[in-house]
Amino acid sequence: MGKTSSKIKTKPAASGHAGYSERQTILSGMQPTGALHIGNLEGALKNWIALQDDYDMFCCIVDWHSLTAEYANTTELKAKIFHMAVDWLASGLDPDKCAIFIQSEIKEHAEMHLLLSLLISVRTLTRLPTYEEKKDEQGLDSYGFLGYPVLQAADIVVYGAHKVPVGKDQSKHIWLANDLARRFNHYFGPTLVEPEILLTKMPLIPGTDGKKMSKSAGNYIALADSEEDTTAKLKRMFTDPKKLRKNDPGRPEICPLYKLHEAYSTADNITETIVPQCKSGELGCVECKGRLIANLNQSLAPLREKRVELLAKPDYIWDILAKGATLARERACLVMENVRRAMKTNYRD
Ligand code: SF4
Repeated sequence: MGKTSSKIKTKPAASGHAGYSERQTILSGMQPTGALHIGNLEGALKNWIALQDDYDMFCCIVDWHSLTAEYANTTELKAKIFHMAVDWLASGLDPDKCAIFIQSEIKEHAEMHLLLSLLISVRTLTRLPTYEEKKDEQGLDSYGFLGYPVLQAADIVVYGAHKVPVGKDQSKHIWLANDLARRFNHYFGPTLVEPEILLTKMPLIPGTDGKKMSKSAGNYIALADSEEDTTAKLKRMFTDPKKLRKNDPGRPEICPLYKLHEAYSTADNITETIVPQCKSGELGCVECKGRLIANLNQSLAPLREKRVELLAKPDYIWDILAKGATLARERACLVMENVRRAMKTNYRD
């Protein structure tokens, strides 16, 4: 394995939490659920890629989180992690600019999780909306599931992250991390960075059935899909249900396919072309889909080409994950040293 060349330059912080780097730190994470889709690309990855030049970026494949529900089904986990790393790199995350790594390879997440878990009551955790929602929906009642938000908080504060890029609907998770860091600092003095939300634009990417695109709904266009797969899926995609024939006036504002045009057909000046043509009945859905298919496939072509190249180099992918883990561990160890010093549990110092 070669020398790490990332722009992340962690340095020892003699005291307090301000001095891990000259730049602010960002933590981003994703569960290894297998093939990523264009909803992940537009909603998260493109934001991360835009941030990697200006921040110390830690991009974490959160495999321990995926075990919360899938603890008894780990056969495919390694392959899912590998494919997620491939998709991240093919999309444009640059291992020379950010640390790309696997959560479970940095044991400091677990240590931080334990310590933060002491600072929150069971009652608070059971009252979190995500606990209530998912408990019955997924049939989960484990101790690990209850502590899931605390592990999320640990993932963030163990890197001294100042910001976490999320959309509005995920802001409550970051609130908890901020609250736990504050509590820690209240008891032990200023040690942990109190993370904040970095609100990012997360365009809603509808699936082929018009609902939110997701792996579990099976309505997604995967980054791994071929041009032919993509074409077949888009040909079946829902449009305005009232536009049954070409000449019927359509409503782009409620058409899920039009949302994809907004993401992939920007060069076509769609507000001047598709919108009036759809509304007047000049444009039919078949032709409209054809335009999107061409634009989307053209836009994804370089990513797909890179994906194929990367898939042929598994050792390179695992090396990148190892280098990322080295950078992540270096930072997490420094933060934990400060934590132990603050708690006076550094017994041998
Ligand atoms: S013409 Fe295009 S924008 Fe209009 S309803 Fe059909 S698919 Fe949607």
